[in-house]
Amino acid sequence: MVFTCIQCGQCCMYLGDYIVIDAKIGPYSFSCSCVSTNTVFQAVVDEDKRSYFDDGFSSAHPHACPFLRPTGDGRIVCTIHETSPVQCKLYRCVALKIYSGEKQVGYITGMGALHSDDPDLRSLYDSCTSQISKEEQERDKWFACFFEKHGYRTE
Ligand code: SF4
Ligand code: SF4
Repeated sequence: MVFTCIQCGQCCMYLGDYIVIDAKIGPYSFSCSCVSTNTVFQAVVDEDKRSYFDDGFSSAHPHACPFLRPTGDGRIVCTIHETSPVQCKLYRCVALKIYSGEKQVGYITGMGALHSDDPDLRSLYDSCTSQISKEEQERDKWFACFFEKHGYRTE
């Protein structure tokens, strides 16, 4: 499946404890920490997103990443796209959709986690976790083969 981000912003709405501004070092520049990877990075708000950045979204959404902002046209975007940490750039909320017949019963995230309420699919996923490849590209293909072998359809 080719992943297309629709810029809904949902993946970043609760990352305020993980992407942390340590200091403001310029009008639109910040020294930051990525808590989950224990790394520091310098963030510069993209020039074309500075008008969004200067609103009150962050104080109204204290759990959101401090760089997330609505654009006014239904999108909620990262305002530091050019300088965001690598794990943000690579993030995919959905890597593979899983169907039983025509009904979608779950999906695999870019990190290889299953999101599903279907107990049979959940139990099948649990049975294969020790075999899952650590390489992202291989992992998508591996999951597609695995679920198709067990009667599901994937996209
Ligand atoms: S990656 Fe995030 S912003 Fe993009 S579609 Fe998925 S949840 Fe929405
Ligand atoms: S830096 Fe950008 S992509 Fe990363 S969590 Fe914040 S808003 Fe999301």
